[in-house]
Amino acid sequence: MHMLNIGSCGIDCGECAAYKATQAGDMDKLKNVPDCTVYQCAHEKGVRVCSQCGDYSCGKLEALWKGYSLDVDQMKGNLAKAR
Ligand code: SF4
Repeated sequence: MHMLNIGSCGIDCGECAAYKATQAGDMDKLKNVPDCTVYQCAHEKGVRVCSQCGDYSCGKLEALWKGYSLDVDQMKGNLAKAR
């Protein structure tokens, strides 16, 4: 997987609800996707992905991962490659 295709939390962009709604230009759907605090935090810290952050992996990221029904180990692997 190309590292530009993962989100700050390590998710494959193709699995991300916000990314999919944005790509489809579906603003109604996008309005119903909760704001991604991890994405915003990474942006504020000036890193592209969380594994490039000195606080990796923080409670905020761990909480996000807990809420996913996706393969978190794969996300962690993606982040390790993107360091
Ligand atoms: S690891 Fe935590 S503190 Fe660092 S950018 Fe990601 S969410 Fe923010």
